[in-house]
Amino acid sequence: MSETAQPPAAASPRARAEIDLSALRANVRALRAKAPGAAFMAVVKADGYGHGAFPCARAAVEAGAPWVGTATPEEALALRAEAGLPDDVRIMCWLWTPGGPWREAVEAGLDVSLSGMWALREVVEGARLAGRTARVQLKADTGLGRNGCQPADWPELVAEALRAEAEGLVRITGLWSHFACADEPGHPSNAAQLSRFREMVAYAEQRGVRPEVRHIANSPATLTLPGSHFDLVRPGVAMYGLTPNTQIGSPADLGLRPVMTLAASLALVKHVPGGHGVSYGHHYTTPGETTLGLVPLGYADGVPRHASGAGPVLVGGKWRTVAGRIAMDQFVVDLGGDEPEEGTEAVLFGPGDRGEPTAEDWAQAAGTIGYEIVTRIGARVPRVYVDEGHTLPSDGSR
Ligand SMILES: *Cc1c(COP(=O)(O)O)cnc(C)c1O
Repeated sequence: MSETAQPPAAASPRARAEIDLSALRANVRALRAKAPGAAFMAVVKADGYGHGAFPCARAAVEAGAPWVGTATPEEALALRAEAGLPDDVRIMCWLWTPGGPWREAVEAGLDVSLSGMWALREVVEGARLAGRTARVQLKADTGLGRNGCQPADWPELVAEALRAEAEGLVRITGLWSHFACADEPGHPSNAAQLSRFREMVAYAEQRGVRPEVRHIANSPATLTLPGSHFDLVRPGVAMYGLTPNTQIGSPADLGLRPVMTLAASLALVKHVPGGHGVSYGHHYTTPGETTLGLVPLGYADGVPRHASGAGPVLVGGKWRTVAGRIAMDQFVVDLGGDEPEEGTEAVLFGPGDRGEPTAEDWAQAAGTIGYEIVTRIGARVPRVYVDEGHTLPSDGSR
């Protein structure tokens, strides 16, 4: 995580990822309005999808999120220890492996997800060591076929979790699941997963489980499937202002605003003759005499090499295209004879309302999804936090 694994990258004129926390708060409010009966879990795994987990978690909590979610326990423990969240904010993490930091998680009051018997055994041991009741949420595989407990194994997990609850070692705080195809509204698996979820919840409740929260909705389900909202929704990508799938709508259609703007300063502008090869492999050759601009960002910064020859960049009010290969640290755009000064801003993506491309444009250029574009922006790119137009200190605090 950019704030914990290493000190925040020092501000530099080379490049920056500007993170608009007021946009993030507005997105949280817009999503809460789509699920008015449900609590909100702000998903900030993978360093807040590349936006910085701590400032984004704080902003989401300010906008009314009582829960924060991560994949790994390490991410969740760092949030609890260092993000400066109010103590009553609940933090849940769901991607556990044997030997994980169960005791620390119990001591930190995290809500931990259990998908199988091995995890129940380990959390019970963690609770004994901590001398505290563990908060556990049982995860059902309702059809995703990834993590979660299969229906055939559910009775045993429920029975043993109830036994541990009776001994005061765990409290079963949640029953939950995750969709496979929520970004394809109308896909038959969505209805099938919902009815399987209702059955598995009903089974656990008949046996005596009294969960605080039942939840299954990610961003697309929050936006398009009200019947999936239950007690809590868990949006990630939509909170950062990206659409889960352009077929559902653009961010603007969904009432969302992209939070990240990635920009760099041109490091060199120069005249070159026609027929000049550009970048490794010479996959681009200047069609005639022209000017080239050097953008000091590369695949080490998360600019996808698959977007070589295709990624769009706004320079001096015009869309330019990556000329030739994206290298580790830099790429080139053909400026078509224009002569912007060195230092001129090159915007790779942003909300789009200054005419700049969006993360979705880069996703299309690279054959991937917007999630991957923002999440992979590297630690070498400083995050610059802005709020209502004001730049915040580098840790995003106010
Ligand atoms: C990542 C994740 C989410 C959020 O998904 P989005 O599609 O980004 O909204 C929710 N729940 C779980 C279990 C996840 O892993």
